[in-house]
Amino acid sequence: MSEPFVITRLCRDCVDGACVEVCPVDCIYEHSRGGELPNQLFINPEECVYCGACEPACPWEAIYAADHVPEAFHDDVELNAVTAARPTEFSVPVLRLRARPAHPTAEQVAENRRKWESSSRDARAAAVGSAETPKCTPLVSGTANTSNGIIHDTAVQSCDAREQ
Ligand code: SF4
Ligand code: SF4
Repeated sequence: MSEPFVITRLCRDCVDGACVEVCPVDCIYEHSRGGELPNQLFINPEECVYCGACEPACPWEAIYAADHVPEAFHDDVELNAVTAARPTEFSVPVLRLRARPAHPTAEQVAENRRKWESSSRDARAAAVGSAETPKCTPLVSGTANTSNGIIHDTAVQSCDAREQ
């Protein structure tokens, strides 16, 4: 394996930090300005040493080698690369100090995947439609506290696909 690993949107709002604990070079980061980027972690592709330890450690199956990222999540490759382009905005999270949410069930993992695959399809369809007539409305950015103390980004989707 000789390509960096990528954290996809399947991590969003899960962010339990299991990957951070196993990474030998501390190249998994969180963004320091909450709300500007989605609520997930990111791998710096220039620091990743392709060891693959994080992939099986992720309970949400959110991590892929760059060449194997599912098509629905291809945009996340570029999103992870922001860590290399703007390194001063990122830090290694101290998630290990937080309470760890319960390990998801197989059905929860599958449902999370369905949700984000559907969201990606809607966003692509809206982008195609907007080439002629805008069919989507940007969602208002914002954050909300959750019961487990993690800040959730409510601006994950770029469009509200109203014409489904
Ligand atoms: S282990 Fe998976 S879900 Fe947890 S923070 Fe890392 S990438 Fe996100
Ligand atoms: S593949 Fe290895 S070096 Fe790269 S992010 Fe995962 S644990 Fe860290």
